[in-house]
Amino acid sequence: MKIDYLDKFKGTLLGVAIGDTLGRPFEGLIRKRIHSQFKDFKNFIKNNRKMFYSYTDDTQLTLHTAQALIDGWGFKMDYLIREFVNWLDDPPIGPGFGCLSSIQKLAYGIDWKDAASKSGGNGTAMRVAPIGLFYSNDPKALEHAAIQSSIITHSHPAASAGALVTAKAIAYLIDKEPNAEFSVDEFFEYITAPLTNSQDRIWQEFIDILSIVKKHIDMPVEAGLIKFSQVGVESPFFIEEFLGKAFVHPYAISTVVCAIFIFLKCLSSFEECIYELATAGGDSDTVAAIGGSLAGNYFGLKNIPSELINIIKDRKKIMTISENLYEKFKERYLNP
Ligand SMILES: [Mg+2]
Repeated sequence: MKIDYLDKFKGTLLGVAIGDTLGRPFEGLIRKRIHSQFKDFKNFIKNNRKMFYSYTDDTQLTLHTAQALIDGWGFKMDYLIREFVNWLDDPPIGPGFGCLSSIQKLAYGIDWKDAASKSGGNGTAMRVAPIGLFYSNDPKALEHAAIQSSIITHSHPAASAGALVTAKAIAYLIDKEPNAEFSVDEFFEYITAPLTNSQDRIWQEFIDILSIVKKHIDMPVEAGLIKFSQVGVESPFFIEEFLGKAFVHPYAISTVVCAIFIFLKCLSSFEECIYELATAGGDSDTVAAIGGSLAGNYFGLKNIPSELINIIKDRKKIMTISENLYEKFKERYLNP
């Protein structure tokens, strides 16, 4: 079986943008309330096109990360810092505190070790997909780049673990064909491998949480989201009023877990998967950006409906960046 890597690269970056764009209007709402607005989400999109006019910071920072890899022909800290600082001129759309506060400090020339926030938020997992793609054949380099790309802005171990697991998931999925046999056991084993034997308590805890997710993978989506929406979140960071509801907390572990859970529930179609992701509740745009990167990678561009591609702002630019990233990947790993 020959993998069409270019199709996977395009599918991944567009998957981020589609998830982000479809999830953006539903950020901060519980899943029940979102789902009460429609019976058929596809029709809802068609009839409310104006609601879905833009992606957010998730897509912006993903594209900047890709550009840094292209310009540096791989991961280089100074290239990534330069791209993140360029993001301030985009300007940022709906940024999270962890990214914005630290990148503003980077723009003032403060060293990244001092600029990084203590945030354990999902702001680094949401932008890591290009690293998962570029280093998909190079596990050690992937681990290094995913962690380094995270600690530039977020010093909390949950953020680096979230970025690492997401990048590993991308690397796992890139040589899988949709509708072929999919081993959930193998998937979990692969994505948790770099977390094992860590001295860090949070990384260990993340492994335990992922094994619980695997055990409950047959749960319906709503029940699973109620169970995992705030998983790993420590007191006093719980959002009390949303406990027991499907409302994904913007903590790195809960967001990545919910994105993976929904993705694994929807292995039969990109469309079904992205609709569940975008309407997950809570930090819907980021759940869908991360889950969208997995789904877009797994299904590839060829399986993404054109109606969904056509609503994405800057889709041509996203395709071009995907192509440029693929060219660098090809030169480095396929035809060295
Ligand atoms: Mg966002």
